[in-house]
Amino acid sequence: MSEKLKIAFYWAASCGGCEIAVLDMNEKILDVVKIADIVFWPVALDVKYKDVENMPDKNIDITFFNGSIRNSEQEHMAKLLRQKSKTLVAFGSCAHEGCIPGLANLTDKKEIFEYVYLKENSVVNPEGTIPQTKTEVKEGTLTIPEFYDTVKTLAQTVDVDYYLPGCPPPVKLITNAVDAIARNELPPKGSVLAPLKAVCEECPRKRENKKIDKIYRVYEKIPEPEKCLLEQGIICLGLATRSGCGAQCLKVDMPCTGCGGAAPNQPEVGAGMITALASIFGYDEKTLSAEEVEKLMSQIKDPVGTFYTYSLPSSILRRKVMKK
Ligand code: SF4
Ligand code: SF4
Repeated sequence: MSEKLKIAFYWAASCGGCEIAVLDMNEKILDVVKIADIVFWPVALDVKYKDVENMPDKNIDITFFNGSIRNSEQEHMAKLLRQKSKTLVAFGSCAHEGCIPGLANLTDKKEIFEYVYLKENSVVNPEGTIPQTKTEVKEGTLTIPEFYDTVKTLAQTVDVDYYLPGCPPPVKLITNAVDAIARNELPPKGSVLAPLKAVCEECPRKRENKKIDKIYRVYEKIPEPEKCLLEQGIICLGLATRSGCGAQCLKVDMPCTGCGGAAPNQPEVGAGMITALASIFGYDEKTLSAEEVEKLMSQIKDPVGTFYTYSLPSSILRRKVMKK
């Protein structure tokens, strides 16, 4: 490679975990620096938005964008970085499918502001002040970004070239992506930079096609080692979730919660898992009665939080319909 690549990192509505995942590359980050100059990374470098605005279009070779889009500043930066980047990667579950910030699609701006600024027990706000996008003060007009009703994924905001899944993306997937970039061997546009299989295929636990007779929350049961958690009644989304994580959670008795996004050929994690459960609950000679199935389903507390933890904005459901 004759000239060094120009790489950018940006975070929108995110927890910062994806930025830590970049640091978790440890000495592998030196390989990145060998092939690339990092030209924009607000968490680590003092580069201003203005510097990006002044760049020629497509000046950045690859931007790794983490976080979902929940306000006007994030939308502006997504559009600006799209304009300035040859390749845009949705980095991590928030940018990919909406993730934890996307669970706010169960409510809207009005309800969130009312709760956070007026009703929350620790808030003292006798004048009932709610943030406004513009405030006049004697020195001039103060502005803050507009908070949106609905959290969106990066691809619902701008055109995305690749998706690096995970919450945060596993270091192995990041280093594989960096190697592919260095060798100029990225797959076709639109690809998810992770294996073409489900978490179950990486999971060391044994499935025996056993009937599920009771659903447990994680804290209610110490699972038997080596046996499939789902068949022990602990909802595990490994059937519907893309692998690449090495099934790390399963190795420490925690079920897959779906951060890798939809497994190949699944429409989405939630619908895929609900479909899988429907067939597991009623398979072969072990078929359950309608009442037994209903009893089992009622034991799944918080269905949206269980099946759509990471994917509500990108799912078929997208958001809750609010009463006007
Ligand atoms: S994908 Fe996970 S680790 Fe990354 S910003 Fe979102 S919540 Fe944090
Ligand atoms: S359902 Fe979960 S525990 Fe069972 S094999 Fe798949 S990933 Fe492993």
